[in-house]
Amino acid sequence: MKIWLDGELVDQSEAKISVFDHGVLYGDGVFEGIRIYNGRVFRLDEHIRRLFDSARAIVLNIPWTFEEVVRATVETVAANGLKDGYIRLVVTRGVGGLGLNPYLCPKASMFIIASTIQLYPQEHYDNGLALITCATRRPAPAALMPQVKSLNYLNNIMAKVEAIQANALEAIMLNEQGYVAECTGDNIFVLKNGVIYTPRISDGALDGITRSVILELAGKLGVEVREQAMTRYDIYIADECFLTGTAAEVIPVVSLDRRTIGDGKPGEITARFIAAFRELANSTGTPVA
Ligand code: PMP
Repeated sequence: MKIWLDGELVDQSEAKISVFDHGVLYGDGVFEGIRIYNGRVFRLDEHIRRLFDSARAIVLNIPWTFEEVVRATVETVAANGLKDGYIRLVVTRGVGGLGLNPYLCPKASMFIIASTIQLYPQEHYDNGLALITCATRRPAPAALMPQVKSLNYLNNIMAKVEAIQANALEAIMLNEQGYVAECTGDNIFVLKNGVIYTPRISDGALDGITRSVILELAGKLGVEVREQAMTRYDIYIADECFLTGTAAEVIPVVSLDRRTIGDGKPGEITARFIAAFRELANSTGTPVA
């Protein structure tokens, strides 16, 4: 496997970063996860834009232009001969001292991995996912800005641990006020009486690219969407529920906290969104070759 590292494509065995990199020492950095479908990179510009926005929000200067990062991403996919897969793009603060001070890290490092991913076993796409509500809260926006896709995922990881210990694969994370924010690596949607609802970004959700695709597709499918504050009540009484994320794609949810959602089967409207998402993903994007 070839890895793009600071401007060069190197063999996986040579793709190494320093133990003094603040990405390692402090989780100081940002990242993106991007999909390749049918020889095209899906929503590439949106992902790279979010990467630059995340970096700017944490005062991290990416030492490459937008166009250079786009080109490097496509080049990495091509070098690995991938037609379908998953790209992980990471920008770390770079090498510095043992103190926190990011201004003592002269240059950020960037690496790009193009590989494959399967987040959930296929049976969950067929039969739906069981969720729990975890005790780990989404940090308040003043603690960790929810839009920033940073290398600080410990909060999400602790939530994931709770999910796995409760025999679930995903968990709903509430914000400090007790409203639904999102899941550990996915955004959440419910359907009630023909209307789709999803938490607002200001409730502590990442501004997911797949989430925005769903908002677009809803217009095309003639389904009304409302972004509004939600509690667990809205999920317990929903007709349908699904999650979205680059790695997860669109996946049905059939229970929360062992309570059945709707009739306990993946919903019909959810199935329409899954089909529309697949069609879009397979027919649009930045060509690799
Ligand atoms: N929320 C969190 C916390 C995430 O890490 C992700 C990405 N895996 C998402 C939501 C979904 O965002 P996207 O659709 O852009 O992948």
